[in-house]
Amino acid sequence: MARTDERDDTTQPATGDQRRFAAARNRMVHEGLVRRGISDRRVLDAMATVPRERFLPAASAASAYEDRPLPIGSGQTISQPYVVALALEAAAVQPTDRALEVGTGSGYAAAVLDELAAEVWTVERHGDLVVDASESLRATLHGSVHVRWGDGALGWPEAAPFDVVVVSAAGERIPEPLLDQLADGGRLVMPVGPADGHQELVVVRRDGDRLDREELGPVQFVPLLPERATRPVRAHRHRTGEPVAADPELSPAERLARACEPFSSITGADLSGLLHRLSGARVVLLGPSTLGTSEFVQVGARITRALVDHLGCRTVVLDADWPDVAALDAWCAGIDPSPDEPPPCAAFPSWRWRNQEFGALLAWLRRRVAAGDGSDPVRLVGLDVDAGDCVRSQVLDALDGSDPVAADALRRRYVTDVPWAHGPVGPPTLSGRAAAAVDRVVERAVEAARQRLEHPSGPREFLDPTAQDDLVRSTPQSVAATVAGGPDWWSERERRAATFLRSIVDRAEGPVVVWSHAARVGDAAATDLDLAGGSSLGQACRSAFGDDAYLIGMGSGTGSVAAATSWGGHTEVLSLEPARAGSIEELLDASHLPAFLLDLRATRQHRVGAELGGRRPQRVVGPVVGPAPTDRPAVLRGVLPQQFDEYVWIGATSAVVPVPVPVDTTRADRFPPGG
Ligand code: SAH
Repeated sequence: MARTDERDDTTQPATGDQRRFAAARNRMVHEGLVRRGISDRRVLDAMATVPRERFLPAASAASAYEDRPLPIGSGQTISQPYVVALALEAAAVQPTDRALEVGTGSGYAAAVLDELAAEVWTVERHGDLVVDASESLRATLHGSVHVRWGDGALGWPEAAPFDVVVVSAAGERIPEPLLDQLADGGRLVMPVGPADGHQELVVVRRDGDRLDREELGPVQFVPLLPERATRPVRAHRHRTGEPVAADPELSPAERLARACEPFSSITGADLSGLLHRLSGARVVLLGPSTLGTSEFVQVGARITRALVDHLGCRTVVLDADWPDVAALDAWCAGIDPSPDEPPPCAAFPSWRWRNQEFGALLAWLRRRVAAGDGSDPVRLVGLDVDAGDCVRSQVLDALDGSDPVAADALRRRYVTDVPWAHGPVGPPTLSGRAAAAVDRVVERAVEAARQRLEHPSGPREFLDPTAQDDLVRSTPQSVAATVAGGPDWWSERERRAATFLRSIVDRAEGPVVVWSHAARVGDAAATDLDLAGGSSLGQACRSAFGDDAYLIGMGSGTGSVAAATSWGGHTEVLSLEPARAGSIEELLDASHLPAFLLDLRATRQHRVGAELGGRRPQRVVGPVVGPAPTDRPAVLRGVLPQQFDEYVWIGATSAVVPVPVPVDTTRADRFPPGG
């Protein structure tokens, strides 16, 4: 549904052009529609509202209100206003309807439909049109329309059933999947007939198993063509109306646009190609470059759900403290926490998991168990056996009481000390009292980690005896390294995590999906981490599982994240730094695509791989984005096509919606959300 409250032309003075277009639009409604017999008030109002000129290349915008089809690129046309009105009137769209359009084209008819229905899905076979239509829809405040690049004859099975299906291209017969996806009482409107012969606009109503068909009169539409067409041929052309250059010598951005699979909305992204590539994987690692990013959590959730639904994944590993994940696992299994249990994922940075987007995935997992379809429940497992973040916050708490200066120095170090960039801040020198306080925390943490490992229902159930011995033996060193933030804390942590993960994967039935961060998921051999002698979880997975480990990186152009400005600080919504010169972000942003999936394994054989190659700077943002230059997140440099197997690009991102940690026991802010 369109967001009318945000429409800016009601609050800002209209320009001369806008006034002329509005007048032309009114004329079109009266002369082109009312006079020709369109009488549905809502349809007329919607057509009087949607600025048709915004869905056309600049060169033909002046003709926007002539009642005829106009070219929009890729050999396609925008539908004639009268025909859009006729089809939508026949569909009798209600404000609560879920509607599907086949043949997005310019996006114009989808925008009108969005004025009438509750939610709209639309499919287009030309990648270029998907990109342009998505942009026009966003620019006219119809950004909630889901646009998919695909074969519309297949409908949109995941979003079905639909109350309304409108097919904006003609076919000899109505595709079966579209009839299957029609809800009881639903209406389907489609021009039926040969491409250049007599076509009838047909409306089909579903009444239980019965389909009633009515013919509304002759029409002329472009044909419904088989399958989806080419990937986008050109990078964005800013609606200049320039014809697509026939020159076979493409720019790097154009080559990239051809190699990728674009999408405009995360719910709309077609994951079938990715699922195909994931089909043999034993472990799939998700590596967003920034934490606290809504879109990355949503993409991770979609990939996770697809792995569960289609590839038999039953194990989800979270790069989080083990006790927190054990609590989430119990909740997803349908067990409610007792009132005296502490809220899960409350330690800094709490928003990493405590956010609405991730909560939605947990709720889905819980519903899946409740629905009891007979398949095994999905288990959640925490990767951090020794609760690193908890230990850090306990140490800081202890120091705040005994040596605030040292606490401050350590907070700084936790922000800047990443192994690929040696921060200017060294470990603080502690007073005797402070050192003793830290020692006590470390001792307690080691003991807690040991108990956890040895507890019958703890992580032990995932470990073989050697792996367990190994982990128990290395616990003190690992905890101490985490606290001191010394040079080897990273490698220690990666080594332990890899040992644990390997044994989980070895014991799991289907593929295992791991939620982590780009710096851990990317292969360290392809980044600055190896220069610093560091390793990574992704690298360990590649050496253990070869091509059966699938590393997915995620990056973004601009936007905001949820983060704090100091270690342990409050959650804020902070802007991302602009892309650096020569960075991966700068290169991918030049495609001007809203979002895409990129099969990096395939690009390694081609020029795109070479163009993405070289050690390029790339953004990595953790929980803290500090205000001082020294607090800025260090930039990792890596060779993208080697670092990951797949890359998910989101042009503009937004912050996750945090679920605050309750301050008392009333649990006003439920996390996970209500079952
Ligand atoms: N409704 C559009 C115009 C549609 S023209 C508008 O308002 O601008 C028909 C569109 O259907 C074209 O863009 C064409 O590329 C698309 N199309 C044809 N066959 C298709 C298919 N099998 N799946 C999805 N889209 C298809």
